[in-house]
Amino acid sequence: MNPTPQPQSGTVTPTTHKSVIDRGAGRVDINKRKIINGEGADVVQLWPIKHKFAWEAYNVGNANHWLPTEISMQLDIEQWRAQNVLTADERHAFRTVLGFFTTADSIAANNLVLAFYKHITSPEARLYLLRQAYEEAVHTHAYQYMVESLGLDGTEIFNMYREVDAIYDKDEFILSFNQGIFDPHFKTGTFENDQKFLENMCVFSLILEGIFFYSSFAVMFGFQRQGKLVGSAEQIQYIMRDESNHMNFGIDMINTIKQEQPELWTLAFVERITALVKKAVELEYKFAVEVFPKGIFGLNADGFKQYIEHIADRRLARVGIDQVYGSANPFPWMSEAVDLSKEKNFFETRVTEYKTGGTLDW
Ligand code: FE
Repeated sequence: MNPTPQPQSGTVTPTTHKSVIDRGAGRVDINKRKIINGEGADVVQLWPIKHKFAWEAYNVGNANHWLPTEISMQLDIEQWRAQNVLTADERHAFRTVLGFFTTADSIAANNLVLAFYKHITSPEARLYLLRQAYEEAVHTHAYQYMVESLGLDGTEIFNMYREVDAIYDKDEFILSFNQGIFDPHFKTGTFENDQKFLENMCVFSLILEGIFFYSSFAVMFGFQRQGKLVGSAEQIQYIMRDESNHMNFGIDMINTIKQEQPELWTLAFVERITALVKKAVELEYKFAVEVFPKGIFGLNADGFKQYIEHIADRRLARVGIDQVYGSANPFPWMSEAVDLSKEKNFFETRVTEYKTGGTLDW
């Protein structure tokens, strides 16, 4: 009798190999593609694209490519070293805002990669998430570059999210929402979990990217308006251009899920999101008090409160939720700071026309 043939190493034995690709699934039915819970979703076939906003966001991201090391920090270095350019209060405000920024983009990146990506069943949305995650890395690099250029104590700045209450409270708030969907057993597909997922998206896009980031951007542009730390402000301009795209993409995702699964957008859900935004406004005000215990060049916590309320209302409106505060924009220069080009409504709206990579052109 012949002995049973043994498979040779390096060969695939047909009888034991079970295909992981479902060859009988047929071609992609674009009508079944959804942001989450796409039925029989094929997440590796980009074509045909259904969620066009994601493809557009990806192209805008590519056109906006930049690196922190391309921006000169020389003037900032001289001003930071000089004894008579920056007051103690200004240094405190700058360091505190940088303390928030240094860890915030890492929190954002983790949320994208570890919480969102796995559950998104639209290949084009996944494509953009990869680009976005890279941009969050560039932003963290920019803060590191600012810390290093100015010779700040990196250990102090990067630890602020643990050591400064007002930053800890904001990060704790955001991370508590991530926690549920970081759970390896979390799955979309039930009403409860889909709402939980959508809630995390709202917290991420409307609150972290839409409120917490923007109010700190405003502080940096306050310096720029005084001719102070303009290299840092330029870094922040590039970051804000990216963040504006991130936020618009997030809002498009939320609004698309709303269309695809309208049952999730209940009155109770809307009330919950409104309450979370109100809580975020309180946390951001507490942060503003930490940044400006006394006020610097016309900026103070009370002026910021109005700005925070103004942008909170705008974020709610973007997802069709009634405004809460009705506060006018106390910093019209914030729009000017970002409306420098022919680009209309760049600020907080969709970017459509970047033709050159790298340079700021708005
Ligand atoms: Fe972002």
